[in-house]
Amino acid sequence: TTTALQGKVVAITGASSGIGEATALLLAERGATVVLAARRTDRLDTIAAGITARGGQAAVLATDVTQRADLVALVTLATEQFGRLDALVSNAGISKIGPVDEIDLDGWDAMIDVNLRGVLNGIAAALPVFRSQGHGHFVTTVSTAGIKITPTMAVYGATKNAVRTLMEGLRQESTSGGLRTTSISPGYVRTELAGSIDDPARRAEVQAGMDSFAIAPEAVARAIAFALEQPSDVEIGDLTIRPTTQG
Ligand code: NDP
Repeated sequence: TTTALQGKVVAITGASSGIGEATALLLAERGATVVLAARRTDRLDTIAAGITARGGQAAVLATDVTQRADLVALVTLATEQFGRLDALVSNAGISKIGPVDEIDLDGWDAMIDVNLRGVLNGIAAALPVFRSQGHGHFVTTVSTAGIKITPTMAVYGATKNAVRTLMEGLRQESTSGGLRTTSISPGYVRTELAGSIDDPARRAEVQAGMDSFAIAPEAVARAIAFALEQPSDVEIGDLTIRPTTQG
């Protein structure tokens, strides 16, 4: 069976676990060629091997999204190996949550570097290719933490809202057609994200939420696929996806 994703080339950052991994597997299953980016290449290799064993097409690249050159290399890999890049899913993210009062400058820098600068690096690398192709789709994984602001999530939510603003601004500048932007805002999703929280008590608290009522990363993958599968004249701008029981 052919699907709307058949033959599309999609690069995914943060593809080594959680939402990115689930997205890579789903898009590949639906016929997309996936280019997997993250720092843990052992994980990427295993995921790519599974995809190719099932008849899909995948490539991997060691990528640190804080490094501009890594994103340029990612886009170049897609265009040189597969002839083009139809979409970039900027999904890599970290969550160093805590009250602003703690003045965790290192944590703030890390979140800004990965969650915001990482997306900007992807735009800088892919936008010229998208413009010259005449089409391209930026999908970002933001968060409901940028919509319902909660204590300890101020800076994390700020980085996510910055990305949503960026996607909307780029959309406004691109209404002549061809370019699409999508912000996916998940609520609690069962992934390894709590691992990036340094404070043990806070990490345990978030992990408990993930273990109890969080939804599976495959749910977010389906939302990303939904945005990517639309015909070229349809743009899914903003999409929230939460556990039914999340407040
Ligand atoms: P995971 O921790 O499972 O995945 C995070 C991914 O980001 C990993 O693949 C990791 O790969 C990658 N990553 C982290 N830092 C970098 C970096 N510097 N360069 C490249 N890749 C990096 O968590 P999730 O799947 O939950 O996270 C995916 C996205 O979803 C994030 O943006 C997160 O903020 C967002 N999100 C998650 C929610 C949740 O409840 N889980 C809710 C709302 C949003 P590696 O370490 O191999 O580089």
